[in-house]
Order: sequence, then structure tokens, then C-alpha cells
Amino acid sequence: MELYYLTAHELSDLLNRKEISSEEATAAIIDRIEAVDGRVQAYLTRTAEQALEEARAVDAARARGAALGPLAGVPMALKDNLCTEGVRTTCSSRMLADWVPPYDATVVRRLKEAGAVMLGKLNMDEFAMGSSTENSRFYPTRNPWDLERVPGGSSGGAVAAVAAGEAYYSLGSDTGGSIRQPASFCGVVGMKPTYGRVSRYGLVAFASSLDQIGPITRDVTDCALVLEAIAGHDPRDSTSADLPVPDYRSSLKPEVKGLKIGVPREYFGAGMEPEVAAIVRRAIAKLEELGAVCEETSLPHTEYALPAYYLVAPAEASSNLARYDGVSYGLRVPGKDIIEMYMNTRSEGFGPEVKRRIMLGTYALSSGYYDAYYLKALKVRTLIRRDFEAAFEKYDLLATPTSPTVAFRLGEKAGDPLAMYLSDLCTIPVNMAGLPALSLPCGFSQGLPVGLQLIGRPFAEATLLQAAYAFEQSTEYHRRRPELGVA
Ligand code: GLN
Repeated sequence: MELYYLTAHELSDLLNRKEISSEEATAAIIDRIEAVDGRVQAYLTRTAEQALEEARAVDAARARGAALGPLAGVPMALKDNLCTEGVRTTCSSRMLADWVPPYDATVVRRLKEAGAVMLGKLNMDEFAMGSSTENSRFYPTRNPWDLERVPGGSSGGAVAAVAAGEAYYSLGSDTGGSIRQPASFCGVVGMKPTYGRVSRYGLVAFASSLDQIGPITRDVTDCALVLEAIAGHDPRDSTSADLPVPDYRSSLKPEVKGLKIGVPREYFGAGMEPEVAAIVRRAIAKLEELGAVCEETSLPHTEYALPAYYLVAPAEASSNLARYDGVSYGLRVPGKDIIEMYMNTRSEGFGPEVKRRIMLGTYALSSGYYDAYYLKALKVRTLIRRDFEAAFEKYDLLATPTSPTVAFRLGEKAGDPLAMYLSDLCTIPVNMAGLPALSLPCGFSQGLPVGLQLIGRPFAEATLLQAAYAFEQSTEYHRRRPELGVA
């Protein structure tokens, strides 16, 4: 396989055996980006010079015989809502188009300490609001499997880069599905860890009670390696859990014997493409064949998750995005007085979807409507969490489709917010309950990847990884790469 299409752990083996230097591997990826990114449009900012410098530093450390971890010298890239010291962090918004953070997000600092080489920052829906990356204020990213289709979103650039051989792995953020849904659309592995597993310090906030950062990789082993590097308590994020980080690599045993897996029927409802449902059911049958005990179950409040999410997430967003006032961060559009300056800045700085969310959220929180909307949504959220708690008394994992459809065409849903929102039907309940979940490639429909979602108990990432690994080791889907000919 081409160097740029190896997994991170495969590249790491080559680096350890000194068959290649990190500088050579990094230069090869920079060439690959040059060759394909004009069509994929995954990157917003490239940091080639800095990446080569970082790579040389790792090579020098290796030459000195320093003890290096598995991610040392491996080139990666980051969704553009993760703060990077000295490198602009735009959230794909005009509001932050020229904003250069003075500090690194905790996950970025941890990866740097692990010797990561950063290639640049990746496109997304503005402020992570969307499911197709068409809400980027710069340009849409394209799906490497079919350039006329969306890569999913909001971490579309982060996923497309990994799928197209433009980075060995990336980090995304997931508030309602933004790692898992694009991972399923582009045929890679994407994990949303348990709320609190990974520090959110330095992640530009969308909906703080739902946001989590997670790995996007080409296989399950890489997912375990990256999760291990970024997980853990951080005094700078009071919601990060003070729990030890397990050795996730050691959970990579192809063993699911006796594992109890529930298959919630509500996740195979209306709007699901029949072929996607059939492929996911076949994947579940495969897990059964490997020794898992699979059984249909019910999460009765599932249908209320989406409407409740579209109150809770916009409510939190309206509050989080109040800080963009033309004073503290980013864009300022002058006006005759301060009120006009606020209005001009926010009118020009935010795009239509962000404005829609701010309006929805402000309405839901306003006096007179708070009880009817926001408070009610919080109660629904409790019911959703209880559904999962009841299911996890019986099952170790739940298995569902990641998305009801394969990647849709660019423009197909752009004019219909509700149709767009529905593509997160299977991922949103997981964020509402704060649970860990992972999407992995489980087949192809019309030549496009389909994802299997596995959902686990709080902090049971190791169980997710183990089941995913067992499935992956007995299938070939994770080895398929899109045929992006070099132009
Ligand atoms: N697509 C969902 C939304 O638009 C989820 C986005 C996300 O996870 N960041 O809110």
C-alpha cells in the first residue's frame, strides 16, 4: 500500500525500524496534500514548514536513542475548533477568520508531548453546527469516495483528510454526531469518548454539556493509541473525569465471546435506507458469529432525542456564542456606537445556520418560554439517559447504524435544515446521555461506506474498542481506500 495510506501504527513501526524518517514521511504527506487537496478541500490552514521542523526534531530524538511513544513522528491534523498556539483557529467562521490562539488546547499539548507532527487545521461546519461541512464559511469539503458528495459533518475536513491519505489521523469534536457521522460517510473509525474522558480545554465551545473531542483514524488500533494519548483528567476542565486512563491497547483482543449486545429497534426506523439497514444487520450477525449474544431491544424515548437536542444544543450555543461581540475575540465591524458595532459584527461574522441556532436558543431560554422548552428538554434528556441505563443493566454494548443513509450529494439537503438535522438521528441520543460510542466501517452501499455504531457504558471505551477490533480483524472494510487518482 502507498505510504500515505498506511495506518499510524504501521508508519510507527517503519519509523521505529528506521526504514524511513519522520521527515521523509511528513514530506510524502505534504506531497499527497498538494496532489489531492485541491479536490477534497479538507484543509483550511497548512503548516508544512512547522511540520517538517517537528518531524526533524523527532528524528533527532530517535537518533539520540530517546524513548518515543507510538505517535512520535506521525503526521496528523486537527479540526479547526481546537486551539493551536500561534496557528489560526477559525471554526470555519468569518468571526474567527484571523484569530490566532495564544495557547494550545490540552489535547494538542498532549499530542505534542507524544511527538505528534501537525500538518494543519481542517475544515468544518461553522462552529461545528451542521452535518455536511457545507456550512463552512470558506468552502465545502468533498467526500473522497465521491467528490460530488458531502463528507458528512461537522468534522468533514478532519474525516476526509484521514480517508484521502492527507493525514494519518485527526482529532474532531462531537456534540451530536460530528465525529461518528462523517466517519461513517468516509469509511474510517471515529470515536466519541464518554463525556469527561477527554479534556475540552481549548475546544471552542458549541454546547458545553454535549461536546467531546475524539480520534478519527484508519483502524481501531490507531483509535486506541490516539485515545490513550489524549484522555485523562485536566485541572483546566472541571468536567473532565478524575479517573485513571486504561491501557487501551491491551484491550485490543479479537474476542467478543459472551458479550451481550442489544440492538435497539428504534434505530432502524423511518428514513433509513434499506440497504444501509441490511448492511448493519449483517455486521451485527457477524458479531454474533464471533460469539457475541445479540438481541433486539427497545430504547422507547429515542424519537424525542432529536427535538430535545435542538433545544438544549442551541440554548447552550446562544450562551457560548455571546462572547463574540467584536471586543474580546476576532472580527470587529465598526458602527456609529457600541450597539451598532455589536450588530454589525455579529451580522457579518456569523453565517445563517449559526444565526438560526442563536435565535432558537435565545427563544428557548427567554422568560415565559424557558419552562415550556428548555426545562422540558432537560427532562426529556433524563428519560433518554434512563433508557440507556436500563439497557446497560442487560447489555454490555448497543449496536446501531451510525447514520440512516450513506453520504448524500452536495447541495441535496443544504436548503432544508430539518432534513439535515435528521441525519444525526442515531448519534444524538448518545451525546444526550454522555456515553461513549464509536463508528467503524462495516460495508458499502452503492460504492459508498456504511458505518456500524457501537455504544457503551460510561467509561467503557475499552469494551467498545475490543468489540470493534474483533469485527475489524474478521473483515476487510478498513483496508479499502478511495480511488482518488493523483491529478
Ligand atoms: N449535526 C449536529 C448539529 O448540527 C451535530 C454537530 C456536532 O456534533 N458538532 O448540531
